[in-house]
Amino acid sequence: MRFMGWDLEAVLSSADPGLFGQLLAAAEKNRLAFRGDEVYVRGLIEYSNQCRRDCLYCGLRVSNRSLERYHLQAEEIIELGLAIYRAGITSIALQAGENSSDREVERIAGVVSELREKSMQERPPGLGVTLSLGEMTYRQYKRLYDAGAHRYLLRIESSDVQVFKRIHPPRQVYERRLECLHYLKDIGYQVGTGVMIGLPGQSYASLAADLNFFVEQDIDMLGMGPYIPHHDTPLAKARDYIIQDAFGTSIKMMALARLMMPDINMVVSTALQNINPEGLRLGVKAGGNVVMPVFTPQEHQAEYALYPNKETKSLESIRLEVESAGYRLCLSKWGDSPHYFNRQLAAGKKEGLA
Ligand code: SF4
Repeated sequence: MRFMGWDLEAVLSSADPGLFGQLLAAAEKNRLAFRGDEVYVRGLIEYSNQCRRDCLYCGLRVSNRSLERYHLQAEEIIELGLAIYRAGITSIALQAGENSSDREVERIAGVVSELREKSMQERPPGLGVTLSLGEMTYRQYKRLYDAGAHRYLLRIESSDVQVFKRIHPPRQVYERRLECLHYLKDIGYQVGTGVMIGLPGQSYASLAADLNFFVEQDIDMLGMGPYIPHHDTPLAKARDYIIQDAFGTSIKMMALARLMMPDINMVVSTALQNINPEGLRLGVKAGGNVVMPVFTPQEHQAEYALYPNKETKSLESIRLEVESAGYRLCLSKWGDSPHYFNRQLAAGKKEGLA
């Protein structure tokens, strides 16, 4: 698979520092030309670590009995969201383990609409709301969209069906995840997906195919990060790693994604920042233009253990790192993905032609 002279698999598997430098420089040039030097902020509230799913890699999986569980009340989430807005950050992301009961969806729809309404009353345009709550029915996604959420992140984790099967129990199926991504797009969300990098059995060819998958799915937002094994999960016992440098490969994946999809938003994941102190700086230089500082209450941060020893950074230290990379942290804009608007425009034109 090639893109503008880059052989994706060869670049991803190369240990040549010269090639790495060339790729990073090309991605940075492209990013500055298409997206400028702004890095947008989404204040992250991880409001519940209760999860009904059993993903084989994740510390929140329902079978992990050693994890202390928490579930924030609606009032607490609203208070946190408004505090983030009053601190000048205009977008939040609500994330939780999967619980798609109608009752819970209704509760979160209430939270979203109150956050939108109250923040709007305080200062237009109000809070921009991203959700990352896993798989739901079309009706449930629509309920949350109608309540005021406008972006949704649902990672495919690997577009390689064999890798997907390897990291999920049999009842969690690839086709269903794909169907959910299509629902989200049909409803009108800005849709984000992403993958883990360096999973057991995952090859460089599989990662190259992931990049093509993102293009084919016409996604608006992307979140990728290195796989970090969690000791309380079955996948941590695996030893068949093909990708040895998950960090360097993640940076290359970001740079290639930026070249292939110049108008999307791309998150510099916390996993990337946790695995290497240079994660934020290099992630931004590779084309990352969104950061998600954690605003989960301090006492619950360690319990949101998707992977172990997750460290969080203050907004100030994120700002300093972003500036040291030569970029600007932008709190005051929603910073929506231009790809979304381009996609809507193209769809409108098609409809006009029909
Ligand atoms: S990855 Fe998400 S759905 Fe899977 S166990 Fe973790 S929190 Fe639950």
